[in-house]
Amino acid sequence: MHLSLSTLALASALLAPSPAEERIDEETIARIKMEGFQRSQVMDTLFQLTDVYGPRLHGSENYDKAALWSRDRLREWGLDSAEIESWPSPVPGWSLESFSIELLEPSYQRLLGYPMAWTPGTEGVVEDVPVVASIEGPGDFEAHRGKLRGRIVLNGKLESADGRRPEPERLTSDQIARLGSAIDPGRPRDYWDEEAEWKAEEAKELTIPRFFREEGAKAVLQPSSRGRGVLRVMSPGTFGASESAPTFVLAREHFNRLARLVDKGIRPRLRLSSAAAFRDGVLGGNVIAEIAGADPRLKDEVVLIGGHFDSWHSGTGATDNAAGAAVMMEAMRILEAVGAKPRRTIRIGLWGGEEQGYWGSKHHVETHYASLSTMELKPEHGRLAAYYNLDNGTGKIRGVYLQGNEAARPIFERLLEPFAYLGAATLTTENTSGTDHLLFDAAGLPAFQFLQDPIEYDTLTHHTNMDVYDHVSEDDLKQAAVVVASVAYLTAMREEKLPRKPLPPPRSPRTKS
Ligand SMILES: [Zn+2]
Repeated sequence: MHLSLSTLALASALLAPSPAEERIDEETIARIKMEGFQRSQVMDTLFQLTDVYGPRLHGSENYDKAALWSRDRLREWGLDSAEIESWPSPVPGWSLESFSIELLEPSYQRLLGYPMAWTPGTEGVVEDVPVVASIEGPGDFEAHRGKLRGRIVLNGKLESADGRRPEPERLTSDQIARLGSAIDPGRPRDYWDEEAEWKAEEAKELTIPRFFREEGAKAVLQPSSRGRGVLRVMSPGTFGASESAPTFVLAREHFNRLARLVDKGIRPRLRLSSAAAFRDGVLGGNVIAEIAGADPRLKDEVVLIGGHFDSWHSGTGATDNAAGAAVMMEAMRILEAVGAKPRRTIRIGLWGGEEQGYWGSKHHVETHYASLSTMELKPEHGRLAAYYNLDNGTGKIRGVYLQGNEAARPIFERLLEPFAYLGAATLTTENTSGTDHLLFDAAGLPAFQFLQDPIEYDTLTHHTNMDVYDHVSEDDLKQAAVVVASVAYLTAMREEKLPRKPLPPPRSPRTKS
């Protein structure tokens, strides 16, 4: 039988896998699993980022040392172009050098507390019977004006300690089913919603610290929002924190003891001190490295994986976000170790200044991809295949938040199939916010945060003194590293980049050049 050329073309088109069909390279995935499960180095990376170089507050010397260590480790593993991508820091560097909080009378007790970031140190050792102020807003200022000069102020109310259950939690099968079958994600909370909230909050948050400073308070102690000795410590605002009075977060139970004593007319005598160093020349940058793509046609396209590298300062930033950073580094190590030759370049980005408002990822997006306000696109915008972020604690990966990108669903269904047995295959139409993928999303790039088990993130570790190595689960990090390595690899191998949502409209007009 004679077949015309067009019939042949039709026949081969029918036999060839359709472009929409994902090709899963089972052999490489098996090697990724063996490397990640049997020869994992993720806990050593975590140890370095927490016990050795933690905490990693943006602008602290530790942050810079940690970033340089990670860059060097990525180089040792054989990655290409490992470097620090820096930008001028909008705030001075700040490192805590020492502090002490003691109760002298009615009986001696060393109190559990921590200075808030960027607040100045005390003028030497300060001793006083504290004044209780309970200032919640400017409406309370008048009653205290002129009465706080040279005093230690307890600002807060006697309230029972947070009774939240600290047991580690995993997503239940009911929760997974609900997430997986969610239909309407609602209007996604985007970067601009968060920025507007911060700006409003920043102004509000600094009103009270500025009042204490103006009134000449020697130090301010406020209760932790957590009970059971857990200190949740951040900074009062960011940009004006260095102009507040020396400010400490005190364990709720210890704050309550002081407040009860004052209430009953028994004078507690406090002695406290703190020393903090401000410095210029902050590195504070992003750690970047890559495995170069092997396909001449696709090597300029990039699959980017990342998470933030900085942390708050009262713990060692283990679950927020040394866990995510260690997993992303491990994913790169695994790919290098198994000799993966991805068609596209696979790049890692570990972002600085996330806790202060996504400074690192914002700088990266605006340098490489687009101006977020004018939506002026740079050439690299067309070459980003996908961005994958990890920043919700130690919990293993349970799936992906689609972030309103429904076209990506059938692709992820296939990419995550090899990990269904590890519970990692849920796709939810729900959005998530609060981390660096939002910046890429705001630039109209396909960006995703993985769905993770909560474990103790909300109940214990998030921004607290208990965010330490001990609360990280080794098996969960191994699972996450293998899932990320595979998803990044498969994304780098497929014919097309991941589909995109429509480009967001510009927020402000382009300036004429
Ligand atoms: Zn985080």
